[in-house]
Amino acid sequence: MKIEPILKRIHPLPWPPKETLVSGAYKATKRPSRGVITWNINTTCNYRCSYCTQKFLDNRARWSQDTTLFLEGFRKLPGEWEVKLSGGEPFQHPTLLEIVAGLKNLGHFVSIVTNFSASEKKLLAFLSALEDKLLVFSASLHLEYINNETTLAEFIKKSLLVQNNLPKEASFNATCVATQNNLSKLKELVDRFSSQGLRLKIQPEKQFGDVINYSQAEETELIQLGGHNGLGKVAWSFLGRPCWAGAFSFTLDDLGNAWRCYPARRFRAQYLGNFLSPDFHLATGPSPCLYSYCNCTVPIERGMMPKDKNLEVENET
Ligand code: SF4
Ligand code: SF4
Repeated sequence: MKIEPILKRIHPLPWPPKETLVSGAYKATKRPSRGVITWNINTTCNYRCSYCTQKFLDNRARWSQDTTLFLEGFRKLPGEWEVKLSGGEPFQHPTLLEIVAGLKNLGHFVSIVTNFSASEKKLLAFLSALEDKLLVFSASLHLEYINNETTLAEFIKKSLLVQNNLPKEASFNATCVATQNNLSKLKELVDRFSSQGLRLKIQPEKQFGDVINYSQAEETELIQLGGHNGLGKVAWSFLGRPCWAGAFSFTLDDLGNAWRCYPARRFRAQYLGNFLSPDFHLATGPSPCLYSYCNCTVPIERGMMPKDKNLEVENET
C-alpha cells in the first residue's frame, strides 16, 4: 500500500500540507495551535481621540446586533480560538457580558482592548464572567482624556485593580499612542507604570492607515521604548513572506464582515465572507503576505509569520 493516501486521510489539511510553504525566501512558521480573531464589536465610542483610526467611519454608533448568530459562528469554528474584542469601546456594547459568557461556554478564550472608562464594577463583572478564559486585558491610555494628575492616578488605580484580579494565565498591559505631542511624556509615564509593577506599551500614531512621519530621533526614542507594542520596531513589513492570517487569524467587524487581517480590510482584499452566513470560509494554510506594512500586532505576537530569516537556520541544523 502506498503511504501517501494514508497520510492524506489522517492529515486535516489538503495534501501536501501547506505548512511547508516557502515564499520570499522564508519558510512558514509552525502551524499555530490556537486561532485568533480581532473583532471590532462596535463602532460606538464615548471618546473622540484625534488619532482614532476609525474617525472616518460613516457611522460611529453601530454595535453588533445579533449575539446569538455571532455565537453560532464561533461554535462552528474548528478548534480553539482567542477572540480579541475591541471597538469603538467594547464596554459600551449592551451585550458584552452575554458575548463573553457565550464564548467561554464554547471553550474559546477572550482578550480585550478598552479605553478603560468603564466603572470598576463593570470591569470586575467582566473578569468574573470570563474567569480563566481571559488571556490579555489591554487598557489604552488616551492622554487627550487622561490629562491631569487625578485622572492619571485613577487610571493607574484601575490598572492595579484589574491586574490584581486576573486569572493565573492572563496578562494586563496599558498602551499609549505616541503622538508628537505625547512623545516627551512617554519615558516618564513608562517609568511611572513600571514603578507600580505595570507595563505600559507604546504604539506609533497612524494617519490614513500609515505610521506618521517620525524624525530619525523620534523613531530611535520609540524603539528605545520597545517599538510598536513592545515588538522592537515602529513598523513591520512581511511582504511576500508566508503568513497564517486568513487560516488561523482574521479580523471581523460588527456587521460580521471578515477579512484576512487589518491591511486586507483596509484595501478591501482577501475577504473571507460574512461570518454570519454560509459564505464564510477560512484559508486552508499560510500564503504570502501582500501588504507592505503590517500593523497586525496580534498575529505578530502569536508567531503567524517569520520575523527573521528561518530557511538558513533550518538548513544549518
Ligand atoms: S477610545 Fe479608541 S475607539 Fe474611541 S475614539 Fe479613542 S482611539 Fe477611537
Ligand atoms: S499584513 Fe501582517 S497579518 Fe496581514 S498577511 Fe501580511 S504579515 Fe500577515
